[in-house]
Amino acid sequence: MTPRPARDDAGRDPGAVENDSAAASGGGLRMTVLGCSGSYGAPWGGACSGYLVRAGDATLWVDCGNGSFANLQQHVPPQDLTAVVITHGHPDHCVDLYGLHVLYQYGLERSGLPVYAPEGVERHLERLVGSWGDTFEWHGVGDGDRVSIGDAALRFSTTDHPPPTLAVEIAYAGKRLVYTSDTGPGWSAEVFGPGPDLLLCEATYQHDDVRSPMHLSARQAGEMARSVGARHLMLTHLWPGLDPVASVEEGSDAFGRAVVLAAPHVTTYI
Ligand SMILES: [Zn+2]
Ligand SMILES: [Zn+2]
Repeated sequence: MTPRPARDDAGRDPGAVENDSAAASGGGLRMTVLGCSGSYGAPWGGACSGYLVRAGDATLWVDCGNGSFANLQQHVPPQDLTAVVITHGHPDHCVDLYGLHVLYQYGLERSGLPVYAPEGVERHLERLVGSWGDTFEWHGVGDGDRVSIGDAALRFSTTDHPPPTLAVEIAYAGKRLVYTSDTGPGWSAEVFGPGPDLLLCEATYQHDDVRSPMHLSARQAGEMARSVGARHLMLTHLWPGLDPVASVEEGSDAFGRAVVLAAPHVTTYI
């Protein structure tokens, strides 16, 4: 895994439109952060949870938090998406699917894009949209499910977080990315087996101020990464306003090695 400098995907202005799907088709497993702000958008333009994962011929939008769709369009044309994966029905992980729906229905006139989400998310969001029409092909997924999307192999596990929330492992070409989504300390990435190449772990809080048991502190994220033998740990979903340096220090102390902090437009080669 090679973390790239923040705010620069390939030496270009992070505001520049990028179409690198062709490069992705021949590349390995890589992940671009589209948004990583915990629970609400940060004042520095931080979008909420969203990740672009490219694995061989698969281009996946994993979580559609508010603000992440705008950032996605800097990295890939929306019509090139292979599928969408939504981990749970909290708005900071799913509401930007509405933007893709509008673009597909009225702009691109496309239909049938696969969306994988826990049961109930489709109806939950439909209250906002009215009707999805035929824009998406919805697939309910749950604990222990395995799905192949093109070259990408996905596994799901229910975390310790209401409403029903799924962590996801995405594997390709011998590499494994594990994304915890949101979780409290009652779940561990150990369910996917030891040694993920990258653990993308929520770290909403810091040790002395865990305001809700449905999330983790940076210390707990580091402890999970150590126990599961992760090769690398990236902290995400930090509560806006927390000192990110303190989270990195806390997570690194618990992990026993330096951790990486998620930031919009950073691409990681796993
Ligand atoms: Zn969240
Ligand atoms: Zn949540």
